[in-house]
Amino acid sequence: MTDRLFIAYMAAFEAATRHVGNCPACRDNLPCKAGDPLHARFLRLQQVWTARSNVSGKHRRDSTP
Ligand SMILES: [Zn+2]
Repeated sequence: MTDRLFIAYMAAFEAATRHVGNCPACRDNLPCKAGDPLHARFLRLQQVWTARSNVSGKHRRDSTP
């Protein structure tokens, strides 16, 4: 199954990670015109992905002992 959200999430993660590797400002958590959109995109996709994972996790039995 191809999961576009997961692929976009991984691509955003890679782009942000690669940028941080080459950007001292981002490593120091400083504002960065090039990096900020990458991080914003990654965080947004991470939230969507985490929210979706949590929803599917609720169907598991181990959520209620
Ligand atoms: Zn940067």
